[in-house]
Amino acid sequence: MDFLPLFHNIKNRRCVVVGAGSIALRKIRPLIDAGAIIDIVAPDIDRRIEDLAKKHSIRIFIKPFENNDLEDACLVISATNKKKINIQVSSHAKILNIPVNVVDQPELCTVIFPSIVDRKPILVAISSGGAAPVLVRMLRTKLESIIPSGFGRLAELARKFRPLVKKRIINSNGRKAFWEEVFSSEIPELVYAEKNLAAEAELQKKIEDDIPKNLGEVYLVGGGPGDPDLLTFRALRLMQKADIVLYDRLVSKEVLALVRRDAELVFVGKTAGDHPVTQENINKKLVEYAKTGNRVLRLKGGDPFIFGRGGEEIEHLRDYGIPFQVVPGITAASGCASYAGIPLTHRDYAQSVRFIAGHQKNNYLDLNWLELTAPNQTLVFYMGLNGLEIICEKLILFGMNPETPAALIEKGTTRNQKTYVSDLKGLPIMVRAAGAKAPTLIIVGSVVLLQDKLSWFKSKNN
Ligand code: SAH
Repeated sequence: MDFLPLFHNIKNRRCVVVGAGSIALRKIRPLIDAGAIIDIVAPDIDRRIEDLAKKHSIRIFIKPFENNDLEDACLVISATNKKKINIQVSSHAKILNIPVNVVDQPELCTVIFPSIVDRKPILVAISSGGAAPVLVRMLRTKLESIIPSGFGRLAELARKFRPLVKKRIINSNGRKAFWEEVFSSEIPELVYAEKNLAAEAELQKKIEDDIPKNLGEVYLVGGGPGDPDLLTFRALRLMQKADIVLYDRLVSKEVLALVRRDAELVFVGKTAGDHPVTQENINKKLVEYAKTGNRVLRLKGGDPFIFGRGGEEIEHLRDYGIPFQVVPGITAASGCASYAGIPLTHRDYAQSVRFIAGHQKNNYLDLNWLELTAPNQTLVFYMGLNGLEIICEKLILFGMNPETPAALIEKGTTRNQKTYVSDLKGLPIMVRAAGAKAPTLIIVGSVVLLQDKLSWFKSKNN
């Protein structure tokens, strides 16, 4: 090891910063965060540092650096662009045995600043000892994305309850097992979902060794339109936790492959017009599974609250007092539009967008067609493949120009995505000739013209 990693408590202790330009500014901020008393020595002072000094415990000495400026310091940072001064600061600090950091000159440092992932009070510090800063930055980005933003709050919760746990569980191994159980229970999820009171109540209950509440939970999760990269972090986390997964036909194989390996998978697929498992039955199953203590993942295509009957499902759960949470997903309209290069709104073409259910009931599509023909809007039809002819005909009948641009996107965001671009008159013919299959999304409006210029996603077919 070239450096010993330590966390340095500098609260209310004197740190000296030599130099007061923008490099110094970068170093002063973490010192402020760590509660140091900061003395800055420099002949000229950056305005931003003067401003900071008004609000924090910073003293400024406008003068050239002298060795005795370092007396009593617990940390020294040299942030000047004068090599000679940096060397002087470094060597004098070393004589006084004060840790010294010289910005961007590792050979003059006895301490270096790591890259930080901050989830107060949890801090992850990373360093390559100056060998590969870009690699460190990439690692940091990775860590930022896998450590939930509520991780710090979880640590705070643990801190709050530590004394009580220590009092109740005398044996240190027992305490360790207790915390392991807490962190792999539903409590972290409650904290991440900002349900702190519920989390505290649950923790209190665990401590008091109450009879464990044998009630599971339902996660109503949007799985997005197909590409697994479009899942949210929370969706993925809950997918990894679930005991049972109830999923729809629209959930892609790639997304499904990400659920916990030993979770039980239950297909409750629905095809348009044909409901192998009735909604009533799904609602019943969700309650049954959760009541017996399972963590149930209700995984839906797209977003659960957009043509997903997600509202009905959680209403039912509420009636039965089953805890639940809802995780939004990228809805087909957003996914297909982005991957086809069709912005749903555009200052020049469309100031609003409508999401419309295009499936027929008893061969009839009951929509307010006149409203749909209003100008400057984009229409997005979900579930419209069977009714494509009727949709186009009716729009024309109610006054839309037959040459209004229209597109149909098949299996949007997947490797098999296919985009058909035409107009109201030509789209049905084009789509039937190609034999397009569900799921498909229809987009009508001038924004479709932009596809030619903006399409970027390369699938197998386009
Ligand atoms: N809750 C879903 C929509 C469910 S309705 C969401 O937010 O996306 C089902 C309809 O969604 C399908 O008939 C189709 O119109 C559309 N759809 C879902 N995934 C799609 C995809 N990958 N490509 C095209 N259309 C899709």
